[in-house]
Amino acid sequence: MEMLQVNQVSKVYGTKLAYRALSGISLSVEEGEFVGIMGPSGSGKTTLLNMIATIDMPTSGSVLINGSDPHKLRRNELARFRRRELGFVFQDFNLLHTLTVAENIVLPLTLEGSSMAVMKERLTAVTRKLGIDAIADKRVYEISGGQAQRVAIARAIIHQPKLLLADEPTGNLDSKAARDVMQTLETINQQDLTTMLLVTHDAVAASYCSRVVFIKDGKPFAEIHRGEHRQAFFQNIIDTLSLLGGDASDLSTIRLQ
Ligand code: ADP
Ligand code: MG
Repeated sequence: MEMLQVNQVSKVYGTKLAYRALSGISLSVEEGEFVGIMGPSGSGKTTLLNMIATIDMPTSGSVLINGSDPHKLRRNELARFRRRELGFVFQDFNLLHTLTVAENIVLPLTLEGSSMAVMKERLTAVTRKLGIDAIADKRVYEISGGQAQRVAIARAIIHQPKLLLADEPTGNLDSKAARDVMQTLETINQQDLTTMLLVTHDAVAASYCSRVVFIKDGKPFAEIHRGEHRQAFFQNIIDTLSLLGGDASDLSTIRLQ
């Protein structure tokens, strides 16, 4: 069974001045896949991710995660589902600046009321895996952007989610830090078989995915698969972006490998 099924999802914002942000998007994702979503600014990428993340409701169509529709859950069940099954990573990290790195990472477990022993064990495992164990006691303002994003990823996977959703996670990072973050996501995808959805503007970041779905004006535009050679896939992504037009084809922002 597919881990995620998006069926003909449309989203209209507003009532009087209605704006159709998504029209009839369908997407199936198998367990363990790493899927990129690309498209110009305003094409509906974040809207799509928010429908899947259950942050917002589709106007029509359905979203199924492991065969059931989280939008049909009651409020407290939905909160639990989101906490347990999903992980989120954002462009601006969303870390709490008054807390240490370790405190930020275990925050979801604190909210679940996990024991200290469980928290310590998970914290050690995840910080080692992500190469951030040495900075666990630092405050957020003492670490670099790349480290901050790896801390945010650690927090997103501390409860071992089935599905990790990342919205422009490399958008605020330089190319070296962006690559570290993408390697981190790739490792999690390969070792834990966590299914991932990555919204990105960056062709290098997208080239870590197994498949990239392009959207334009809220509609499906193209889909390409990685195959064996990452370099060829990267070139294919660049070519599709230039067909796509808009700011997605502003190649000046694309970093060469
Ligand atoms: P992207 O992430 O691809 O840049 P978004 O999904 O954020 O695009 O936005 C798609 C379109 O929907 C844009 O035109 C945006 O202005 C509009 N939009 C997004 N969120 C809202 C909202 N809460 N209310 C009204 N319009 C919105
Ligand atoms: Mg967006």
